[in-house]
Amino acid sequence: MEPWTSAKLRAFRRKLLAWFDRAKRDLPWRATRDPYRIWVSEVMLQQTTVAAVIPYFNRFLNSFPTVQALAAADEQTVLNHWQGLGYYRRARHLHAAAKSLVTDHAGELPDDPDVWAALPGVGRYILGAVLSQAFDRRLPIVEANTLRVLSRLFGSRLDPREGLGKAWVWQAAADVLPRKRVGDFNQAMMELGALVCTPVAPKCGACPVARECAANRLGLQAEIPPPTRKKELTTVRESALLIQRDGKVLLCQRPPTTERGAMLWEFPASVEVVGMTADLGPELLTVRHGVTRFKITLVGTEATWRSGEFASDFYPTGVWVTAVELADYPMSTPQGKLRTEWTKDSRQGRLW
Ligand code: SF4
Repeated sequence: MEPWTSAKLRAFRRKLLAWFDRAKRDLPWRATRDPYRIWVSEVMLQQTTVAAVIPYFNRFLNSFPTVQALAAADEQTVLNHWQGLGYYRRARHLHAAAKSLVTDHAGELPDDPDVWAALPGVGRYILGAVLSQAFDRRLPIVEANTLRVLSRLFGSRLDPREGLGKAWVWQAAADVLPRKRVGDFNQAMMELGALVCTPVAPKCGACPVARECAANRLGLQAEIPPPTRKKELTTVRESALLIQRDGKVLLCQRPPTTERGAMLWEFPASVEVVGMTADLGPELLTVRHGVTRFKITLVGTEATWRSGEFASDFYPTGVWVTAVELADYPMSTPQGKLRTEWTKDSRQGRLW
């Protein structure tokens, strides 16, 4: 890798920002420098696409327009607004961080990296993204798009996702930052990765910084960065029992400490775990679903309550709810599919 001259660096920044001004997508969180709105958008955008985030972002901001409103909300309401976005830990961290800002910092979202670094769920990426966009603080960001763009620009063969390569890419992201318009520049790098410097078939012919790009010059776009190593998937087979009693169904809340779906509601895995007996009915639905490194097959089976009251060492809470009330409880996507199947009008006639 050749070091860049300062003239090349200046040209690069100028061209990238000019392109961003021309080509950037009109996204709801771009119309603001409010750190709260930027923060919410960045948390949602981790692991989720822009198109999927937009309706959630608008709905979330409608219900919780300020950090005070978010801090005052109960956790179930916050999780309900997150339902379908997945990775619910993000929502719980966001909520806890909002409470901490209100309690310890008078509801201010300050231009202070130390305050942000101490908040739950705020890593180096979120910190850099919020402070650079809201306050133009000169902090780098690295995420899936920028690590690809930087590796190609400089022709780095290292894997930017781990070890030495990760350290390199963070340093490169810091080195290319301009002195002004830092937030726009960080967004421009991500936007270039999303729209032009795509993982497969990057549009180098339409790229504003093609002249500066080492991978383009050397024809190495397809090899840089090296492909992500395939994660070992853990296959999980789960059951869910829809135990019915007097027109209601039993719903249980997962404990706060579980690796997946903490505090979400679900149909219990068995009658034993809720201290009941029931007559098993027909299989309702089999749902196949992937979450992080898990490949889940969830088999939902109907059952009719026979005896016992809710008592569980695993679930902290269990409630009997009607089909209408079911909609108020935040559930994981696969459990939500069982709910949808079960509450379909056509089934209601037969079951109840
Ligand atoms: S020239 Fe091609 S490889 Fe280089 S940054 Fe632009 S799109 Fe990416």
